Amino acid sequence: MTRVYNFSAGPACLPEWVLNKASEEMLDAHQSGMSVMEMSHRSSEFEDILNTAKARLRRLMNIPEDYEILFLQGGGSMQFSMIPMNFLKNGADIINTGQWTKKAIAEHKKLGKTNVVASSAEDNFTYIPKIKQSDLSEDSDYVYICENNTIYGTKYKELPPHEGKMLMADLSSCILSEPTDVTKYDLIFAGAQKNIGPAGVTLVIIKKDLLKDSDTLPSMLNYKTYADNNSMYNTPPTYGIYICGLVFEWLEDVIGGLENMQKINHQKANLLYDYIDSSSLYSNPVNKEDRSYMNVPFVTGDKELDAKFVKEAKEAGFVNIKGHRTVGGMRASIYNAMPLEGIETLIEFMKKFEAENAKGTANV
Ligand SMILES: *Cc1c(COP(=O)(O)O)cnc(C)c1O
Repeated sequence: MTRVYNFSAGPACLPEWVLNKASEEMLDAHQSGMSVMEMSHRSSEFEDILNTAKARLRRLMNIPEDYEILFLQGGGSMQFSMIPMNFLKNGADIINTGQWTKKAIAEHKKLGKTNVVASSAEDNFTYIPKIKQSDLSEDSDYVYICENNTIYGTKYKELPPHEGKMLMADLSSCILSEPTDVTKYDLIFAGAQKNIGPAGVTLVIIKKDLLKDSDTLPSMLNYKTYADNNSMYNTPPTYGIYICGLVFEWLEDVIGGLENMQKINHQKANLLYDYIDSSSLYSNPVNKEDRSYMNVPFVTGDKELDAKFVKEAKEAGFVNIKGHRTVGGMRASIYNAMPLEGIETLIEFMKKFEAENAKGTANV
């Protein structure tokens, strides 16, 4: 068996520890004589899997008791509509930092007043716009951000001001990569397939006092329905939640918590950025202080050479490293599950490629 280094932006690589454990439990999980996939979501075995996952996440992220943990479906993308459906009354202030906020803006516009209070579009989203409280709309209900921009490789290092307004944040591609002060947010959401588990699960962490009954919202689109039913109003994505639970177990018991995870992630990202910055072939276009620890785009400045890089990288066992079509070049997504060794060997490959393709050198 040969496993590749998978730099996909999502669905992304999972810790081998998790895959091994799932494989051991595939035919007989928790002494049930069946796979988790075959379990009733109403069984005590599955209820235990779900509650254990929630308890682990609460400990890992230090989530206070006045916040609810919900498992939904519909991906990160359904949150672009569900947030305004539940909370947009007078207006939403959105900071546009790329593809994922553009999509959120488009959905918001169908549902109510949408104010794009800042944007880095004019610079192809290579930085995070800094805003002041006075940039916000007087009557808006909330500020909406995408904390880590998966496609462009930018990340908020400090949250924007939002005095008197709720803060809704898309953490799809940075959740669990570092400690998070949950109390600074009103709602956090994340599609699972980057840093939590398999596609098909969306995690929501929401302040309990925001949960309200509604006569107009469809039940499946009201957060309170999920909270009232321990995320089991209907059949939840059971196997996905089980894998998320194993990832939480790995983070707690193998990695030793999010402080440790952050240290490892900084070490990995800094190694790659330092090499890119020192190289005469590759460059990263992102404002240094706004660089993501999870998604590292880089280019050679020559489209043909980029294509050659992607092809040769694949042959060498580094897959899904092609950049998003709107940015071009390459992108290494280096989520929690990417081991340090994956970065070290990628850099070795990049050095070799650079030596073979240096400008002015005969390309034999
Ligand atoms: C991947 C991603 C999404 C979309 O997730 P889906 O589950 O495909 O809907 C939203 N936001 C961010 C930041 C992402 O990286």
